[in-house]
Order: sequence, then structure tokens, then C-alpha cells
Amino acid sequence: MRILVVEDEPALRAQLVQAIAGAGHAVDQAADGQQAHYLGEVEAFDAVVLDLGLPLLDGLSVLRRWRASGHNMPVLILTARSSWQEKVAGIDAGADDYLAKPFHMEELLARLRALLRRASEHASAQWQCGPIWLDTRQARVLVDGQPLTLTSHEFMLLTQLMQRKGQVLTRSELSEHLYPGGSERDSNTIEVFVGRLRKKLPAGSIETLRGLGYRLVDPDAGPAADERQAFKPGS
Ligand code: CA
Repeated sequence: MRILVVEDEPALRAQLVQAIAGAGHAVDQAADGQQAHYLGEVEAFDAVVLDLGLPLLDGLSVLRRWRASGHNMPVLILTARSSWQEKVAGIDAGADDYLAKPFHMEELLARLRALLRRASEHASAQWQCGPIWLDTRQARVLVDGQPLTLTSHEFMLLTQLMQRKGQVLTRSELSEHLYPGGSERDSNTIEVFVGRLRKKLPAGSIETLRGLGYRLVDPDAGPAADERQAFKPGS
């Protein structure tokens, strides 16, 4: 695979290049935002490791420009910031995952592997839940036959819910799927994305089970028949 490393700090950039090349990838590097933006526009990368604090053009702007011109390679952002609001800003700009500095190189490599694997898994399936239809290969969602526009994170979240429709997914399960190695600290972020996704779907599609998690249901089907049976009085 061909990976672009964007980091302005020379020592860290050298470590990243060495580690990623050591994992068997071809690595290109950029030390500022303008160079990074240019390389991303003209070369085809399988994934990018992108620092946010960069000279000439900041990482978020680089990412927004790539996404605006249709470059959809997986991007892992590096940030010194740790608040969930700022993670949301990075993800809104089109990042697929984030890692806060300082990080262990092993963790970065694990997340990179997961991003690359996920990109190749995006190859296959179609799912349906009532009026909602999702195609992972085309990255397309239809509701009652009408196309629905989702961000890449909303799409991944919906894919997880569709694949296990009718089942409860905990926030940490969803977080693990969205961010490899994700943990409870990301649950506010998950809440934000579930809230946004819910607004775009037919009312009643995503149920919240307090203290448990979320469940995707067919909003046209009414209360689940099996559940009525399960809680039949006197049984
Ligand atoms: Ca930096």
C-alpha cells in the first residue's frame, strides 16, 4: 500500500516514515500543508496520516480541500487536542479516525491497518431495514427509494446498525467500529453522530435503550412482535 505521512516536526516525521515503511508500505512524506495538499491532489494514496498543526495550510483545511475535490482515501488525523468537540471538527472535515499525541507507534500502526482493512471491506454488501436501503459498495443509502446524503461517519454508523438490525449495540461497540481501539471516552462523540443520523432517518428508526445503547428497527413495523411475546404477561 502507498501511504502519505504529513507531519512538520522532523523527528516525528522520520519515526512515522520508518515505522510505516517497516510495516511494508511505500511511504511519501510532506512537511507542510501546501505540499501535503498538492501530493494528495496529484498522487493516489491508499491512506494518509495527517497532522493537524501544520505550517502554510492547517491539516483541517487540507482535508476539507481533498474531500471537496472528491479524494476519498482513508485519513487518520494526529492531534494534540483531546476534547470531543475538536474530534468532531476533525471528523466533520472528513477524517476517518484520529489519534491524540503523544501516541505509541504500535497503536498508530494498528489503526492504520484497521483503516486499510475497512477500506477493502467496503467492497461488498447491501442491507435493508424497512424503508432504509444501504449499499456499502456504492456507499449509497436510499429511504423510500430516495437518495439520502450522509457523512462518511454517519454512513459507517448506519452500516453497523444495519448489519445488526434489531439488536442492541452499546456505545462502546459502535465506538470500536468507528475508531479502532475506541473506548468509553468516545461515547459523547458517538452520541453526537447518532443524534445527527437519527434526524436524517425516518422517525423511530433508531431506538435508544437507556443505559444499554442503540437499536435500529423498521419504523413501519411497530413494536417488535418477538418482544411482545418475550414480555407476555404471565408467561
Ligand atoms: Ca505539527
